[in-house]
Order: sequence, then structure tokens, then C-alpha cells
Amino acid sequence: MKTISIVIPVYNEAQMIQTSIPQILSVLDSALLNRGVESRYAIELIAVDDGSVDQTAAVLLNMQQQEPRLRFVRFTRNFGKEAAILAGLESAVGDAIVVIDGDLQHPPELIAPMVRLWESGIFVVHAVKAQRARESLAQKLFAKAFYAVFKTMSGLDLRGHSDFKLMDRKVVQTLLALPERQRFFRGLISWANFPCAQLPFEVADRPDGSDSKWNRWKLIRYAVDNITSFSSLPLKWVTYLGVFTLLFGIVIGSISLVQKIEGKAMDGFTTVNLLIIIMGGAILLSLGVIGHYLARLYDEVKGRPTYLIQEDMTIKNTTIGLEAKISDAKGE
Ligand code: UDP
Ligand code: MG
Repeated sequence: MKTISIVIPVYNEAQMIQTSIPQILSVLDSALLNRGVESRYAIELIAVDDGSVDQTAAVLLNMQQQEPRLRFVRFTRNFGKEAAILAGLESAVGDAIVVIDGDLQHPPELIAPMVRLWESGIFVVHAVKAQRARESLAQKLFAKAFYAVFKTMSGLDLRGHSDFKLMDRKVVQTLLALPERQRFFRGLISWANFPCAQLPFEVADRPDGSDSKWNRWKLIRYAVDNITSFSSLPLKWVTYLGVFTLLFGIVIGSISLVQKIEGKAMDGFTTVNLLIIIMGGAILLSLGVIGHYLARLYDEVKGRPTYLIQEDMTIKNTTIGLEAKISDAKGE
């Protein structure tokens, strides 16, 4: 029997997971398991607690006692959603692996059609936002700008993409084998370019009406990191900027020289001021861009792990969970 793994990154979601995890499981049970008499898939749920400071871990532990198919990994601190997804994928044993948010903004009803597409030979099923959730105009514009810049720089069109995806085991293994530490999964999956399909979905509001766990600065940093991890264009632009300022300097210099020779040197103060500002700006901007790439290199070279696990409640229960399910299915 094949196994489907569901990976759920959670950060301070003690309230939310009490409804979302049972709901995801019950939707899956009715959609995948009870189709006809025989059970077709074993299911494992891997919740990755991304260093929550609320009761999330306690709630998960409690749920795990009643639901052997649920396993969870707990980080020592908040390492970010990308790290949580990575840990989930590393621990998943399924033949197909689905990543889904723990806040029900990604409808679990979509998993069954995703699995059917996978059965027909598709390696990656992207759930694509047909409509963005309740977001401010600024958030919408920011997302639009990010995808536009990302597309120009990396050539990958990720518009509407979310982290809600189904991936074949092979795709996950390919991704996990990549040596980089800072990963942008959405980008990497598209970059890998396995046969894929898209399923549209409408992003629901968070059931409890609370806000996204991302604040504006975290999002901006995330966007800049993702762009620079997929493109070295900004570094090339530094060269163009250098060439441009050099040409500009040559023109201004020649004009000044000619005027000097003709004995009608212009009032130099403004020119010098402008030159200092333009040159200084160009140099500092270039240094900043180079510095950013250097920082990324430094981070990669240090080779620190992407996340640290405080508690791993996955290994112990894996087989129990699966065996229980398999024997259930056999009607033992
Ligand atoms: N999340 C996480 N680590 C973080 C931030 C968020 O694991 O540092 C989880 C969060 O618990 C949720 C999912 O990632 O299950 C999506 O987060 P959120 O709903 O805040 O983001 P949005 O829906 O705005 O993309
Ligand atoms: Mg959300």
C-alpha cells in the first residue's frame, strides 16, 4: 500500500491546529481511505513546530496520543517556514508528500484531486491561488511586484503559487539532495521542472480571523533573499552601473576640460556636488549589493544546519502509525 505524507509547518498555532489537524485528517479519510471497501493509502501527518512559544507543542503531544498517524518534530527556536517545510520533507516517508498550511487557508479538500493527478503520472501538483485572501492593497502590490521581479530575474513564473503542493517522492529526494542551505521551495520545485499540473483554489480567511504570522519586514527580507538566491543579475547590474557612471564621468570631464581650455570654466560647485552625490550613491549601492551576496555566501560557507530539533516525535511512531493503518485496512 502506498503512503501519503502530509507536512504541516506550524508556528504559534495552538488554537488553530485543534480544528485544522482533525479536519485535514477527516477530509482525507473520507476522500482517500473509504473509497470503496478497501483502503488505498496509508496516511501520515507530520507537524513541524517551528519553535512556537505558545501551547502548540503540548497540543500536538496530546493529539499524538489519540492519533497515531500524527507525528511531530519540534525546533529549538523559530527557524522560519522554509526550514519547517525542509524538516517535514526530510522526515516524511510517503510515496507522495503534500505540504499544507496549518491554518485551513489551504483547503484540505484539494488533496484528493491532487492525489488523483499524481496517480495519473504527474510529479508535482501546484495549488495556485485563484484569488488572494483578505489582504490590504499594499500587500497585494507587494506580492505582485515580488513575482514580477522574480520572473524577470530568474525566468520562473511563480504568480499565484503557494507552498500548498503535492510532490512525488522522487521530486522530494531531488530537492533534499541539493546542497544549498537557504532554500526557497516554491522556486526550487519550479526550477527542477518535473511534469506538473496546477489546481486553482480560493484562499480562505484564517478561521479565527487572526493575522498572518509574517510581518512586513520578515516578508521583505524573505523576498530579497529569494530573489538573490535565484539570480545574480543584481551583481551584474553593479557592473553596468559602474560603466554608466564612468561614461557619465567622461562626458562631464570632457565638457569641463573643453571649457577650461576655452577659458570659460563654468561655476564648478554644483557640478562637483552632483558628481559626489551620484558617484557616492552608486558606489554605496554597489557595495550594498555585493555585501548582500557576500553575506549569503558567508552563511552558506559556515554550513550551519538550517534548523535544530529539540524533540523528534516522528521516528518512534512512524511504524506504529503505519502498521496500525495497514492492519486497519486489512480489517484485522
Ligand atoms: N509558519 C511557520 N513558521 C513561521 C511562520 C509561519 O511554520 O515562521 C506557519 C504557520 O503556522 C502556518 C503557515 O506557516 O501554518 C503559514 O503561515 P501564515 O498563515 O502566517 O502565512 P500566510 O497565510 O500569510 O502565508
Ligand atoms: Mg495563513
